[in-house]
Amino acid sequence: HAVLQTQVPLVRDKAFINGAWVAAASGKMFDVIDPASGKVVGSVPDMDAYDTAKAIQAATDAFQTWKNTTAKERSEYLRKWYDVLVKHHEDLATLITAEAGKPWKEAHGEVSYGNSFVEWFSEEARRTHGEILASPTRTKEMILIRQPIGVAALITPWNFPIAMITRKAGAALAAGCTCVVKPAEDTPLTALALGHLAEEAGLPKGVFNVITSSRTNAPQVGKLLCESPLVAGISFTGSTAVGKLLYKQSSSGVKRLALELGGNAPFIVFNSADIDKAVEGAVASKFRNCGQTCVSANRFLIQDEIFDLFIERICNKMKTLAMGFGMDHSCSLGPLINTAQAHKVNTIVQDAIKKGAKIHLGGKPASTLGERFYEPTLLTNISESMMCYNEEIFGPVAVCIRFKTEEEALTIANSTRQGLAGYFFSNDVPQLWRVAKGLAVGMVGINEGIISTAEAAFGGIKESGIGREGSHHGIDEFTYTKYMCFGNL
Ligand code: ADP
Repeated sequence: HAVLQTQVPLVRDKAFINGAWVAAASGKMFDVIDPASGKVVGSVPDMDAYDTAKAIQAATDAFQTWKNTTAKERSEYLRKWYDVLVKHHEDLATLITAEAGKPWKEAHGEVSYGNSFVEWFSEEARRTHGEILASPTRTKEMILIRQPIGVAALITPWNFPIAMITRKAGAALAAGCTCVVKPAEDTPLTALALGHLAEEAGLPKGVFNVITSSRTNAPQVGKLLCESPLVAGISFTGSTAVGKLLYKQSSSGVKRLALELGGNAPFIVFNSADIDKAVEGAVASKFRNCGQTCVSANRFLIQDEIFDLFIERICNKMKTLAMGFGMDHSCSLGPLINTAQAHKVNTIVQDAIKKGAKIHLGGKPASTLGERFYEPTLLTNISESMMCYNEEIFGPVAVCIRFKTEEEALTIANSTRQGLAGYFFSNDVPQLWRVAKGLAVGMVGINEGIISTAEAAFGGIKESGIGREGSHHGIDEFTYTKYMCFGNL
């Protein structure tokens, strides 16, 4: 990993607690792997509950001062951080490609997207004001103010190594909270680079802390973050299973919780749709980050009349995807994050084939490139008993189901416990409104496959989560509303 270190000055091999770069008290480290080549690109401290307690304490101490900064001061700090992030755009993108395997172009896109949350919340920080109520009583006046909840623990996944942190930390810092970030074990280098750039931007010590831990230590770190009375809230993005565990663990302290969990997004194409636009949206939604996003289309529902045409066109489009190593600028599809994920995707595909699915493209690992690469796959003849119908695939596998009526499409789309994103393509105006309202999800793309942006409220319903990130609602997760009643006036 010496090569990466010379290429990218942001590489760190220590965690960031209280403005200092520290090793794990145990002295243990763990390796970070490039999913494309399988090579080690760095190693970072394997922290446990002992180190976590130190980070929580640092954030608690820093909160005593940070909570009293003005909204304008917090806005200026965030703006400085944003400017520094922009200056290091290229280095951040290189880190993301190195540890997450993302194609170069997508890594650049993620840096812009990730940075945009810091910019957005530097602006929103100025608007964390409250309300004056119209009193029903002559002798009373009533005010609502918003106060930061305290120390926020942010636990993040590997699929967007920068954006999942900035989306939470931007909002937390804008609200006046301090934070302890626990990034995914697959992508800790980008998180530490964020710490380094926060330091360069002059953020006060202890306001933004990053602790790294292996998968082995993650449960004890998570447990302490959930159970420590010094932590006011948890914001988590990741799997439904871990999200449910954190929900349970946080109940003892009735902790504030924001959860952004798995999706099972339907992508419906109606007869009236512009097929070429639908195909383009479908490929963008399905194959971004090799299908590893929680808003990726998981089930394509295609209306009877246009089914065959859609399959033919999407197949042609999928054939143009260039799979390879992220640093190769022509590559548009990278590897899966790790071997466990590659096996899971293959299990889902083999299960479908065994139960009668038809393969139009792919259907197997792309072993000539490496064990974590999987061929872009298209399946039809899908039945309800298949894993691909019920589970979040998180891989480059498009599953297409034929339907006849709008009612049938909505029934299939909503027949899941997840409800994050949903998409549909149609040119029938009354249908646009009906279906957009009828989909049981938190976010809808209407004739659009890519919907995420800092200005919009991101989040799900049902088992896909609690709370919203981005937009002005993002700050709500990190503030309490305090009601003040002035009496005897
Ligand atoms: P994925 O399956 O996409 O890796 P996870 O939910 O397993 O999603 O991981 C998301 C984040 O949750 C990562 O930072 C991971 O280390 C963390 N994590 C995993 N298990 C636990 C746990 N028991 N407690 C707290 N955090 C955890």
